[in-house]
Amino acid sequence: MTAAAEVPTQRSFVLIKPDAVRRGLVGAVLSRFESKGLTVVALQLRQVSEELADAHYAEHLDRPFYPPLRRFITSGPSVALVLEGDEAIEVVRSLNGATDGRKAAPGTIRGDLSLSNRENLVHGSDSPESAAREIALWFPEIG
Ligand code: GDP
Ligand code: MG
Repeated sequence: MTAAAEVPTQRSFVLIKPDAVRRGLVGAVLSRFESKGLTVVALQLRQVSEELADAHYAEHLDRPFYPPLRRFITSGPSVALVLEGDEAIEVVRSLNGATDGRKAAPGTIRGDLSLSNRENLVHGSDSPESAAREIALWFPEIG
């Protein structure tokens, strides 16, 4: 087997959050992913309901930060998308940067454009299992 054959092509679920839509940063955020070489395979402007927020963030329902996170994520439209490419899951997380925008490295989306631990512009699946679950939840027609 060649080295190239060992690089898995993956799909990652990405949410461009309401703060990015409000701040007019959808194009800037999407451009980071497209410029990197990832391909958009699904995209939809979406007003997230409380039910969808709870399903998406099921692992965080009991966390103290979840009630304000739910208010934020349902506060206006988001852009949901699926990106495809070599090791897309890890590549997206690396482009996004650390969760807290204040601590995220310069050069990352959050590091360059966010000053918040909550309003951090973007979500990316954290594992192949999460990606499969999230794509099925948000885009059942392709999941
Ligand atoms: P991610 O995978 O980097 O998005 O981070 P997590 O899965 O840990 O958390 C989900 C989302 O909840 C984050 O992207 C933030 O929007 C928010 N969040 C996480 N941790 C905190 C926190 O400690 N405080 C606040 N205010 N928001 C948080
Ligand atoms: Mg997460």
